[in-house]
Amino acid sequence: MARTVYVNGDYVAEGDAKISVFDRGFLFADGVYEVTSVLGGKLIDFDGHMRRLKRSLGELQMAMPLPEDELLAIHRELVSRNAVIEGLVYLQITRGVADRDFLYPSATPQTLVLFTQSKSIVDSPLAKRGARVVSVEDLRWGRRDIKTVQLLYPSMAKMIAQEKGVDDAWLVQDGHVTEGTSNNAYIVTRDGTIVTRDLSSDILAGITRAAVLECARTLQMKVEERPFTIAEALEAREAFTTSATGFVCPVVEIDGVSLGEGQPGPVANGLRQIYVETSLKAAI
Ligand code: PMP
Repeated sequence: MARTVYVNGDYVAEGDAKISVFDRGFLFADGVYEVTSVLGGKLIDFDGHMRRLKRSLGELQMAMPLPEDELLAIHRELVSRNAVIEGLVYLQITRGVADRDFLYPSATPQTLVLFTQSKSIVDSPLAKRGARVVSVEDLRWGRRDIKTVQLLYPSMAKMIAQEKGVDDAWLVQDGHVTEGTSNNAYIVTRDGTIVTRDLSSDILAGITRAAVLECARTLQMKVEERPFTIAEALEAREAFTTSATGFVCPVVEIDGVSLGEGQPGPVANGLRQIYVETSLKAAI
C-alpha cells in the first residue's frame, strides 16, 4: 500500500507528491530536516527535535513554516494514517521555489514535506553484533551544527565504508574524531570515562546525545566532552554511537582493530537499554 505523505498542506499518496524543479532544496540544498523516531506509535523527544529545527532555521534566516503544535499534529496524523508502530518521521523544510539565484529570495513560501518510514529499531541486528567502522577524513563544510539536507559527503563516506566491508565511517579532522556519518561518536576509556566531542560547529548537536549523556550523568558515570583521536579510540574499552534511529549502537571494531573483547560492551548495552526505557516513558 502506498504511503501517505504530507506536502505543503496536503496529505497525498506518495506517488502523487510533487515538488517544483525550482525548489531551492533541489537546486542549492537550501533546506533543513529533522528525523524523529517512533516507538509504540509515539514520538521520541519531539520537543528536542523542534528546538534544534528552530535553531537550524534561524541560522539560515528562515522562519518556522507552521507553529510547533501544528507540526506535532502533522507528525501524529502521518503516524496514524501509515500505521507506524516503530520507525521514524522525516521532516524537511526548504526555502521554497524561486528562479535560480544564489541570493536568498525575499518572502517565498517555504516548502514543507513530511513522510514516515516503518522499521524495526529496538530489535536491531547491528546493535546486537556491534558496528565495525573505518576512519575517513572529514571533508564536510564547516557548519555541521546546522542540520541541512546537504548530505553528499556523509553519503560518500558511507560508500567508502561499504567498499571496505564495514558498517560506517568515523570522520576525522585535524587528527581528532568529529562524529560518525549520521551519528555522534563516543569511546569508553580504560578507567570507564565516556568521552565524546564537545559541541561546536564541527558536529551536529545530537538530540540522542543530549538524552544519553543525561542518562549517563544520572547514573554517576564520568563523562568528558572533548575531542579524541583514533589512536585513543583503539585503546578504548568500548565505543558506541548515538542517533535518533540508531539509539545507542555499540562499535566493536575501528580500522580493522577489535576493541576490548570485540563484543558490544556493558556501558553501550546498558545505556541503550536505559535510553529506550527512559524515552519510551516520555514519548508523546
Ligand atoms: N551527527 C550527524 C552528522 C547526524 O547526521 C546525526 C543524525 N541526524 C547525528 C549526529 C545524531 O543526531 P540525533 O541524535 O539528533 O539523531
